[in-house]
Parts: sequence; C-alpha cells; structure tokens
Amino acid sequence: MLPKGLPKLDGFLPEQPKEIFASPGKCIYCGSSNDLSDEHIIPFSLGGKLVLEKSSCPSCAKITSDFEQTCMRTMYGPLRILYSLPTRRPKQRPKKLELKVKYRPEEKDWQTILVEQNRFPFLITFPYFDTPGIINEKPIDQLEGAVTKKLWIRGASPYYSFHDLLELLLKDLHAYSVFPESKADISAFCKLLAKIAHSFAVAKLGLSGFKSTLEPLIIKNELSNCGYYIGSTYNDEPPKNQLHELALLEFKNIEAILVKVRLLSKLGTPTYIVAVGKRL
Ligand SMILES: [Zn+2]
Repeated sequence: MLPKGLPKLDGFLPEQPKEIFASPGKCIYCGSSNDLSDEHIIPFSLGGKLVLEKSSCPSCAKITSDFEQTCMRTMYGPLRILYSLPTRRPKQRPKKLELKVKYRPEEKDWQTILVEQNRFPFLITFPYFDTPGIINEKPIDQLEGAVTKKLWIRGASPYYSFHDLLELLLKDLHAYSVFPESKADISAFCKLLAKIAHSFAVAKLGLSGFKSTLEPLIIKNELSNCGYYIGSTYNDEPPKNQLHELALLEFKNIEAILVKVRLLSKLGTPTYIVAVGKRL
C-alpha cells in the first residue's frame, strides 16, 4: 500500500541568503533608464534571493519573465510544489498533477489521471552541454545553437527510491504501466542561464566593469552562438549544501569573464559555465 503522502520536503532545500546589489542606473539588457524594476538574479520562483535593484526596463522584464516562466512550467513545476519553493500565487498551486497511465497491456493510448502531488512520480531534468566554444577554442561557425545531446534526469524525492514509488503506485492504481514524463525547453533554459550569469556579473563588476556579450542572446533570441558562450561539465558532481551556486571564475590565459551557475546544487545537478563578456 502506498503511503498517503511522501515525507514533506519543506526545508530539505536550504534557503539562499538574501543579498541586495545597488542599481546600475539603467537597464542591464538594453540601456534604457525608463521605469526600471528590480531583477532577481536567480528567479524568485526557484528561491532566488539575490536582487539587483532597478536594473530591468518594462520591455526587457517582459521578455525575461516569459522565458523564466517557460522553464518553470516545463522543467520545474512539480519540483517547486513538492519542495515548497516560493510562488506569488499560492492559491493557484495544484493539489493534483496529471499522470499518464495504462490499465491493461493491450490499451493503445495512455489515459491521463490526476495524482496527489505528494505522491506524484516526477522527474527533474537538466541538459548537459559541451564545454563552451570560447574555452576550447571551437570556431563559432561549427556550433549548433541551443541543443543538448544528453540529459541529467533524476526522480525527484530524495527520501524515496523512484523505482519503489513507481511499483507502489502501479499496485495502488491497479495499473499496468505509468509514464513519468520529463520535459525540457532547451532554448528557454539557455536564455535563463545567460540572464542569471549576465545579471550576476553586473552585480559583481558593474556594467562598466566588463564588455558584455550576452544581451542579443537574452533579449533578441539570438541563440545560434549559444554553444560558444554556454556549456556545462559532463560529470556527476556531489551535492552541495547550498540552494544554488554562483561564482565568477578566473582562468589564466582566457580573456573571457566566466560565471559558474549551478541551480539546485543540493540535488546534485550539473554545473554550467557561462561566458558573459570580456575583461576591459
Ligand atoms: Zn531594457
């Protein structure tokens, strides 16, 4: 018999300490100084508490919040619910989530049923990428844009084996098969990484502290050179007792300014390297 609910995961992910950075005085994406709003460097909905004050104009804020929401919806929706990551609309948070099920082997189509969110078998997905072209000196015209050849996928609950959960769920539902889905929007995710790294570099170095290169990728959807600027490590890395990791990286002989971005590092997720621009 499946337990009524998995153990509550409130508090499993550590909180990010709050940090406020002073406004650069204009929009960090387009340079406008009109009607600026605060920018969460890592989205509020992933528990991000680093804020760059008055740094995004209304039109850039609309663009960045659109791709952030795409990532949250496609990749991290159930995760945010189970781990109680923040939401601005708590009443709209669903209690049940859709799962595809077959009750007999001969059924052709999957049926969609609703399963209570605290026993929903969901998967967390992150894409792996090659090393950024700027580091391994791959020519820019040999890159493929926002694509991945390999995904990091894990069952979400750290307290429960995913396999056991599926077996118990099958018994409980009297089902023949269930189909846990994993979704990823790689373009939106690359833009999210670029936005996080760019805004973090501005917070640390100031807009005049480096010559930035990522604005077209973030705001104009120019993703063809994505692999030149954005990459990841390919190895499994141990979890860190930190919600997210963000750091400026120094490499000798590399002129680029690099930012390490690791989201939800307590879950053992991949590390991304983003080249945000050049030293001045
Ligand atoms: Zn702007």
